[in-house]
Amino acid sequence: MPRKLAAGNWKMNGLRASLIELKHLEDKHGDADVDILICPPATLIGACEDTPFDIGGQDCHMGESGAHTGDLSAEMLADAGASYVLTGHSERRTDHHETDEMIAAKSQASYDAGLIAVICIGETLAEREAETTLAVIDRQLAGSVPDGADHENTVIAYEPVWAIGTGKVPTTAQIAEVHAHIRSRLTARFADGAHMRILYGGSVKGSNAAEIFSVANVDGALVGGASLKAADFSPIITALE
Ligand code: PGA
Repeated sequence: MPRKLAAGNWKMNGLRASLIELKHLEDKHGDADVDILICPPATLIGACEDTPFDIGGQDCHMGESGAHTGDLSAEMLADAGASYVLTGHSERRTDHHETDEMIAAKSQASYDAGLIAVICIGETLAEREAETTLAVIDRQLAGSVPDGADHENTVIAYEPVWAIGTGKVPTTAQIAEVHAHIRSRLTARFADGAHMRILYGGSVKGSNAAEIFSVANVDGALVGGASLKAADFSPIITALE
């Protein structure tokens, strides 16, 4: 069984004062038997050096260095203290027009810098209603996940776009179907695909976490809104422990 992972994506939220939330989380989960990852805004990565939790970036550039004003390389994130980075989050795919090809390149850049890439995939509402969810998942997995992926450098996060920040959550049957499909694709393509972690993301809360974690092939969660406050993130971690 892959080791469980509770990942918090703070998105564009968080000032230095917010780091008190990590202290509160440490009080309750400092010795947790699951992996805990916090992806704060990049401005706070360096300030997280005392936390026992893994720290991740929310995006990286696909290049190593150079004339890319405002961008951050995977190497810079690693140098600042990150061990993970999110790639291909739907907000990046939409707001920054990131393609599968770009996400594969960013994920490869992450590997090259020694980071674990959390590669995000998921269908829109229109795609689900058109019953193309599994085709979209196939396209994103084939296009966004580099050939060098393995269970140590890659985590897949299934995040239906329509469930992100909306309070809408797929049924457990829908989650089970997509996660089983992802697992089958990973095991077909990668020797250690059975051990690669597959997270569910999209409106995970303390009140629904246990039910979601009971689904086969769900190895943890990528949590947005409910990761900002320790009081909200803690019950999700507890449900995973
Ligand atoms: P949410 O976001 O938990 O606020 O729905 C999840 C995500 O975007 O990773």
